[in-house]
Amino acid sequence: MLEWVTFSMREFVIAMICVFVTVQISSLCTTVYLHRALSHRAVTLHPAVEWVMRFLIWLTTGIDARAWAAVHRKHHKFSDAEGDPHSPYVHGFWQIQLGNLHYYRLEAANPETIDRYTRDIPRDWWERNVFSSTWAGNALDAAIWVIAFGPVLGVIGVLLHFALYIFLNSSINGAAHWIGYRNYPNSARNLWVLALLTMGEGLHNNHHEFPGSSRFSQRWWEIDAGWYTIAALRAFGLAKPTPSLALGD
Ligand SMILES: [Zn+2]
Ligand SMILES: [Zn+2]
Repeated sequence: MLEWVTFSMREFVIAMICVFVTVQISSLCTTVYLHRALSHRAVTLHPAVEWVMRFLIWLTTGIDARAWAAVHRKHHKFSDAEGDPHSPYVHGFWQIQLGNLHYYRLEAANPETIDRYTRDIPRDWWERNVFSSTWAGNALDAAIWVIAFGPVLGVIGVLLHFALYIFLNSSINGAAHWIGYRNYPNSARNLWVLALLTMGEGLHNNHHEFPGSSRFSQRWWEIDAGWYTIAALRAFGLAKPTPSLALGD
């Protein structure tokens, strides 16, 4: 019994590696599917790739894709002005950096926002029957972690990968609108280290200037793993960046 609730240092290290990998998978699917493909239509993914990413988002985050796209589109429409669902200039830096999830949930629960910003995103069978059940995704995720690492380390792993993912997302909406360098005169900032941890999302100043581009990097030293993934998928015929919008094609 005791063996089940305790764990060795080796198991702990493996669990932490799995936490890191899970957060990177969540971040990759968020930037490539939720953000670049669904919200901005900057790239069209092969249906199989799209399904896998939707499944992974459901499993590792429980996010409702339409709600995410709606809140994000509203953020672009009112960037850092009255009406922006999560702006450090409107709501305060620490409010967004630490409480982004609260502001996101407030807007995601507004049916007017969902209706107005997602008219082009129909609910398909998977959305209606599987992916809209946040609790089911979270429960399956927790079950996998507990089976793999036991109840104590498994629960630590689940809580940690959620906390890190939320922290990174909050940093895009908080820090990447507050500190960092600018290539363009919009209110967002680029944060090189954050871009490294978020598959390119941290290049937020570039993104706000060219929201329809599937590539966020502009300079040779800016790392955009989301774009590298799209370029690799394109090489296999699995992704098509929107031609008039894609930069560097
Ligand atoms: Zn932004
Ligand atoms: Zn965007």
